[in-house]
Amino acid sequence: MSGPLLKVENLTKHYGVGAGFLKKKIPVVRAVEDVSFSVEPGETLCIVGESGCGKSTVARLLMRLVEPTAGRVLIDGTDIAGLTKGAMRSWRRRMQMVFQDPYSSLNPRLTAGQIITEPVENFERLNRNQRQALAAELLGKVGMSPEMMHRLPSELSGGQRQRLGIARALALKPALIIADEAVSALDVSVQAQILNLLMDLQQQMGIAYIFISHDLSVVEHIGHRVAVMYLGRIVELAPRAALFAKPVHPYTEALIASAPVPDPTRVRHETPLDGEVPSPLNPPSGCAFHPRCPLAMERCRIEMPPLVPLADGRIVACHVRAPMSEQPAQPQGALLTA
Ligand code: ADP
Ligand code: MG
Repeated sequence: MSGPLLKVENLTKHYGVGAGFLKKKIPVVRAVEDVSFSVEPGETLCIVGESGCGKSTVARLLMRLVEPTAGRVLIDGTDIAGLTKGAMRSWRRRMQMVFQDPYSSLNPRLTAGQIITEPVENFERLNRNQRQALAAELLGKVGMSPEMMHRLPSELSGGQRQRLGIARALALKPALIIADEAVSALDVSVQAQILNLLMDLQQQMGIAYIFISHDLSVVEHIGHRVAVMYLGRIVELAPRAALFAKPVHPYTEALIASAPVPDPTRVRHETPLDGEVPSPLNPPSGCAFHPRCPLAMERCRIEMPPLVPLADGRIVACHVRAPMSEQPAQPQGALLTA
């Protein structure tokens, strides 16, 4: 049976739930609210949104580094909440993470070769020759020469360290890599090289990615679909080209308009995104974007807009741009996949 590699259903994470010290009520951070999406094998789903909107929490929920408050994560159709320790271990093998700051996630005392072969050595013993051959192969995959295996992280550039982080993620031949702000700390030219590398690897190895970035301009050139998050919720999920050609949610539109554009012929709008992101401790009523939205009407302050499927295959949560009444009745789940 073939189906999505990963399916996320109504995933929700509230931090600080329950009674605190001396039964004092702890305020609840609504980090992730009712998030649903799926990822097909070999597909890239980008998740974008301003800092604090819940992107990394989604990643941690998928890796089961934190437990969800509600909702489920299914891998190959199996709910990961029910997995035994052993099954979880083999699932983690299929899913790897690449982080923003490879420097802090790479052991400074290990050589590049040791760092990238370590995941394999957690599962099987390698002799010196096997280790060297594997290190050379993995370095080759990320465009680095075999001599680099003897270097320490401190002897590498930022781009090389990020290549190392990717090589380590590739070591166990994962089906899915979650890249959380993986290029955000790099110069624009190095960013482009790493993005190209990720896309090449996807072509060669059929890896699926969840590519997370606070910077929408980074995902303009990669990814099959893009999910835009605002205050813990997906507000628009669309095929990438459609999203950039015609953003529907006013938040997506504002993000695109305010993103830095490398193309000088394209007009850069004056920051249309006024104000701060509201606190997830106390999200606004109705549509959480309404206090910053130029289109907000009375209904937006009162009623939370549902995610509504549009004819071009995207889903949007906006009373103004995607009013519920005008849409044909359709099961929403069907449109969450590509
Ligand atoms: P992003 O990756 O989009 O910047 P995060 O997922 O890191 O966002 O955080 C989402 C919200 O959850 C933020 O308001 C953050 O402060 C809060 N948060 C994240 N982790 C914790 C935690 N362990 N305890 C309490 N609040 C948290
Ligand atoms: Mg983050």
